[in-house]
Amino acid sequence: MSKETPTRNMVTIDGNTAAAQVAHALNEVIAIYPITPSSPMGELADELSAQGVTNIWGTIPDVTEMQAEGGAAGAIHGALTAGALATTFTASQGLLLMIPNMYKIAGELSPTCFHVAARSVAAQALSIFGDHSDITAARATGFGFIASGSIQEAHDMALIGTAASLESRVPFVHFFDGFRSSHEIQKIEELTQDDMREVIDDEAVFAHRLRGMSPDRPVLRGTAQNPDVFFQAREAVNPFYNAAPGIVQEVMDRFAKVVGRQYHLFDYYGAPDAERVVVLMGSGAETAHETIDYLVEQGEKVGMIKVRLFRPFSGEALVNAIPDSVKTIAVLDRTKEPGGAGEPLYQDVITAYTEAISAGTVKQMPAIVGGRYGLSSKEFTPAMTKAVLDNLSASAPKNHFTIGIYDDVTETSLEWDPDFSTEGDDVHRAMFWGLGADGTVGANKNSIKIIGKGTDNFCQGFFVYDSKKSGARTISHLRFSKKPIRSTYLISKAGFVACHNFSFLDRYDMLSALNKGGIFLLNSPYSAEEVWDHMPQEVQQALVDKQAEFYVIDANSLAKSIGLGGRINIIMQAAFFKISGVLPEEQAMDMISHAVEDTYGRKGQSVVDMNIKAAEMALDRIEKVSYPQTASSDLTMRPPVPEHAPEFVQNVTAEIIAGRGDLLPVSAMPADGTYPTGTTQYEKRGVGIEIPVWEPDACIQCNQCSFVCPHATIRMKVYDAQYANGSSPATFKTMEAKGRDWKGMKYTVQVAPEDCTGCGVCVDTCPAFVKVDGKKTDRKAINMAPLTEELRQQEAENWDYFLGLPETDTATFNRFTVKGSQMLPPLFEFSGACSGCGETPVVKLMTQLYGDRAIIANATGCSSIYGGNLPTTPYAQRADGRGPTWSNSLFEDAAEFGMGMRLTVDKLTQFAYELLDDLIDGADNHVDLLEGIRDADMVDQDAIEAQRERVAELKALLEQDDSDLAAQLLTVADYLAKKSVWI
Ligand code: SF4
Ligand code: SF4
Repeated sequence: MSKETPTRNMVTIDGNTAAAQVAHALNEVIAIYPITPSSPMGELADELSAQGVTNIWGTIPDVTEMQAEGGAAGAIHGALTAGALATTFTASQGLLLMIPNMYKIAGELSPTCFHVAARSVAAQALSIFGDHSDITAARATGFGFIASGSIQEAHDMALIGTAASLESRVPFVHFFDGFRSSHEIQKIEELTQDDMREVIDDEAVFAHRLRGMSPDRPVLRGTAQNPDVFFQAREAVNPFYNAAPGIVQEVMDRFAKVVGRQYHLFDYYGAPDAERVVVLMGSGAETAHETIDYLVEQGEKVGMIKVRLFRPFSGEALVNAIPDSVKTIAVLDRTKEPGGAGEPLYQDVITAYTEAISAGTVKQMPAIVGGRYGLSSKEFTPAMTKAVLDNLSASAPKNHFTIGIYDDVTETSLEWDPDFSTEGDDVHRAMFWGLGADGTVGANKNSIKIIGKGTDNFCQGFFVYDSKKSGARTISHLRFSKKPIRSTYLISKAGFVACHNFSFLDRYDMLSALNKGGIFLLNSPYSAEEVWDHMPQEVQQALVDKQAEFYVIDANSLAKSIGLGGRINIIMQAAFFKISGVLPEEQAMDMISHAVEDTYGRKGQSVVDMNIKAAEMALDRIEKVSYPQTASSDLTMRPPVPEHAPEFVQNVTAEIIAGRGDLLPVSAMPADGTYPTGTTQYEKRGVGIEIPVWEPDACIQCNQCSFVCPHATIRMKVYDAQYANGSSPATFKTMEAKGRDWKGMKYTVQVAPEDCTGCGVCVDTCPAFVKVDGKKTDRKAINMAPLTEELRQQEAENWDYFLGLPETDTATFNRFTVKGSQMLPPLFEFSGACSGCGETPVVKLMTQLYGDRAIIANATGCSSIYGGNLPTTPYAQRADGRGPTWSNSLFEDAAEFGMGMRLTVDKLTQFAYELLDDLIDGADNHVDLLEGIRDADMVDQDAIEAQRERVAELKALLEQDDSDLAAQLLTVADYLAKKSVWI
């Protein structure tokens, strides 16, 4: 088959799928372990095998999930040693956990191609987003590294990497950018199994199989070697590495003959007489390609190198690829090597040129500078590419620069022009703001596929999630064009903006991205006539300024009336197709119906019918809004945090919440990753569409609603009756407290309306029903009600008043009962866990009972994301400032991490008692206090609190004492009061 006989399908898929399909087709044994963002590759391979899909040799690959990445690599090592074609998928720390086995696999010249969705390695913080820090950390293993920058390339290089590995015997990592290419959807040409068969050399496969260990031809591998021979044996692999670049190029050439796309180890693109060149690898190369197109058209002598083969690095091939006219080169690394002479790719390029100069193959050494970009998926735009190239025009180009951030500490950053854009009018761009789990992202993925299938457009979909688990913001970025799309960066100007959640209006500036004359679609509980008066003034002004076409649809009511609950996805999708005109309405509806059948078919015909009905009804419910030409609203957009929030929250947290985190300078960031606790209280996400409303008459004061609440957003207090006498807001509800110890006191159940996620778990759990004429109704003592603006304001005022009430006297209840525990303030509140989460009520309860003395070693997973994800964190402090202190090490070492904390607590406690004993030995005064501290039993909360008071007294005394003993004890005296370590 050749490019003249195009029988390949165009498919609209993401990078993970593109790589995994090929990996599945080219292997026999696949060992997997999930790690974001590579997990879908393993899942897809597993699914394909479960469906009976065979590889190119007609057998179904065996897919096995291991206990960890180290295990997956170990299993692959074993499979390769025994002669199977084997692979795995991973990212970040997962790849680092594979490193020991990677050394072994490479040392034994076992061919394989791992597929990696490259991701940041956790340092001052974990990040699930993309850069090359994992790749570069593994570069010394002996694996080859082959890079993809687009979805098509992820598909193609998966084949090229595997074929080259089989022929060279150098194992490869094929990588593409995590949470860019891995999750970006594009229309690509799908390779057929025939293509793969033509590119893969079966002789190399047979040779690998025959090298596999077998008792029929016994050998011994994995020896222990001594100083006499290890070094020489290590050098014995050199010929294979020397040959590998040439073999990769041969495979690329063969691929080009079969498929039609020609790649090189280093692909040069740009002006043939370029004087300034940028070198980079991964998805950033697509953005650079787009920028070079634009700048060359403007007559600039610029170009770029796309690095395909990072290891084995062929300096000769690099230098040969760059035009002789080049005077300055900027090398961009998507990683940071603190303390290094420069980042890896920069050093490679310097070495290549230095060697070429020495060898006389290059006459003049260009000026070469290096810079860092795009860490943790930081945006890399054409404006930034241009800034990098502009830097090369300077008389002394800045070296070791950063691009994409504002570094006001060590002044590394280059400035760029945020208004510079290369995007033409020939690309349709649309942005959709949705609420996590409302189906917006899923619907947009469908839309992309529908457009990809139904038109000859190229299309691209990219989805930005905030890191809360659910009830959070998602922004879908969709592009369609007749020409291939290389824009691997977010949309900043769109012709269509949709807001799927009305509560976003006063929190996010969505319209700044809308083009003049563009379309704004709003999911609104208000009709076309009413909506204008319910919008913030700033939004009104933006619509007027942009002369936008403005449409509303009440998707929530429609979804509810049809039985879809909060799933508004199909409704908003139908609305998009109707008003955007991307496809004729009839064709769009037809394709939506098919997509619904594909998506919901497994859930039964009634679910399919419901969704199709929703789409049809949506078409009739869209209303165009005629709006006045002046912004007159009294409402304004809310500040991201209240004015009383602490300084750090105002200056840093609020900016992240407002979506302006990219603009924060380096100086705003704690250098060691230490952040204040208790910041969720300032965020006020307001994601609940409904909230519980308390009906005191039916309440039996069991406190179960609070006990089960995953977000600590429904609470109760018993307080003196004076607080319910006129000083409270008019709508503040109260009732007589039940119980002997609370005689004459008042009891209130209060909801935090802007923090409640509306999960309804409290209402489901409430055992008390309203009775009418002695008969139970279906109303309870709490019932969900729509969160109107009026209810929000009213309950926000009540919540503030409630927080100001004194805490319930702990002497009046038993904290170790369901009811009593909920009288204690939670020290874990308003987490971003999934709405209705079953874990968080337990965490909350633990903090209520023991949080004042907790040190937490949290494993990585859901609990580390809802527990420690910026911008705001839920572990809180009680009034005296005590509360859980929290840290996360890695996915796999929480037990050891916690044990280290425990060892420290035990050691420093022992040391504190030793110092105390020394103090007692020499003491003339305060002996009772010192002995009281030494002898305290701390068996219950009261005893711990009493000890804390004594320790405070001791510390006050120590501060007056200038002896060495006092100075030592002062730093560890707090260990004299009990601590507890949680893992
Ligand atoms: Fe808590 Fe859910 Fe009830 Fe809101 S609806 S108060 S989040 S349990
Ligand atoms: Fe009252 Fe129901 Fe809450 Fe019990 S669960 S305290 S009855 S509202």
